Amino acid sequence: VSDLARAESLIGSIPDYPEPGVIFRDITPLLADAAALRTSIDALIAPFAGGFDVVAGIEARGFLLAGAAAIAAGAGLVPIRKAGKLPRPAASVAYALEYGTAEIEMHDDIAPATRVLLMDDVLATGGTIAAARELVAGLGGTVVGTAVLLEIDALRGRDALGDAPLHAVFHI
Ligand code: 5GP
Repeated sequence: VSDLARAESLIGSIPDYPEPGVIFRDITPLLADAAALRTSIDALIAPFAGGFDVVAGIEARGFLLAGAAAIAAGAGLVPIRKAGKLPRPAASVAYALEYGTAEIEMHDDIAPATRVLLMDDVLATGGTIAAARELVAGLGGTVVGTAVLLEIDALRGRDALGDAPLHAVFHI
């Protein structure tokens, strides 16, 4: 098996988490394996090599990947957080969830035209990534692409995101 196939095999599927009927894809066994983590981070950033200044990780599991990716790429790291967590003035975008709404925030002082690679663990419906793109663009940053570890194809999140570059290392 290739290194990537081995890494993929470490992603778990947890039935009925966080609620009955949901299958939760669990990346923590992949993160805990040194070779799988290294291979996965390299694969996340490869299509965008040299093309971004910062990696913007989305709370909370996106942080785990974004920190490693930023170091590997020689880029900076910017947190996109759930509302109310950032210490300085921040912009926010609210978006719809299946039940209710969520809100994400980013500090509002990103330098104009900073090239941003968005990063998260899983792409499901695409709502989170769509909101993150809106957030960065609204602050004058340039989203050069989005990288996720796992795309859940059946939820068609990609279709909701238009033509902007979207890279998923694994698909299910
Ligand atoms: P979306 O906004 O695309 O519907 O949902 C994506 C967000 O929900 C991501 O931030 C991701 O972390 C989280 N998420 C949704 N489903 C799963 C899952 O099965 N596993 C993990 N690890 N995260 C999920």
